[in-house]
Amino acid sequence: MRLTRLYLAGFKSFASPTEIRLPANTLAIVGPNGCGKSNLIDALRWVMGESSARHLRGQALDDLIFAGSGERAAASRAVVELTLDNRERRIHGPFAAYNELTVRRSLDRDGQSRYEINNTRVRRRDVVDLFLGTGVGARSYSVIEQGQVNRIVDAKPDELRGYLEEAAGISVYRERRRETANRIGHTEENLSRLNDIAAELE
Ligand code: ATP
Repeated sequence: MRLTRLYLAGFKSFASPTEIRLPANTLAIVGPNGCGKSNLIDALRWVMGESSARHLRGQALDDLIFAGSGERAAASRAVVELTLDNRERRIHGPFAAYNELTVRRSLDRDGQSRYEINNTRVRRRDVVDLFLGTGVGARSYSVIEQGQVNRIVDAKPDELRGYLEEAAGISVYRERRRETANRIGHTEENLSRLNDIAAELE
């Protein structure tokens, strides 16, 4: 699955609408210190559902919205869009049939956040699910930051297993199993409460 386009507006240092086409398998982004290279990686993580400001190198989520500069007023909204080529059908679930998918996330200063996939409003969870098992994702091994190679080399066995499971495409099933186990737990609690009530009524 290839990422083909990244669009940013009002996101961190990208005040103006900026479209970056990703036409090849190998692409290098170069520029002087502080020009915004890492902000592009933050944008990628954010649009894929990252919700921790710390993981996006900020204190609070509204640090993601362009804060203004000498000659430019602050933005009121941050928008990031990520377009994916799904012709190899790596995406499963309700959007599996599309050849191309665009995930959009926006955040207003009042904290209003919104996710869309191909112009359909969705929940954060739908976006996270979209990427589960594809190897791409807000915290997946496919986004490698400075220092992350060390983190993988030094990873504890459990963390390492997490990376391997994502690479093998089975983390999606582990997540489903966890959700199902939670649901079974709640149902068992309800059943035991019902049994108590039935016993009192007898
Ligand atoms: P380096 O090569 O040193 O790692 P870089 O190209 O990766 O640098 P970034 O860390 O992506 O640079 O960008 C840092 C710049 O982004 C800083 O100038 C910072 O002021 C600016 N920036 C970050 N958040 C915002 C924001 N909310 N509003 C405006 N500018 C911002």
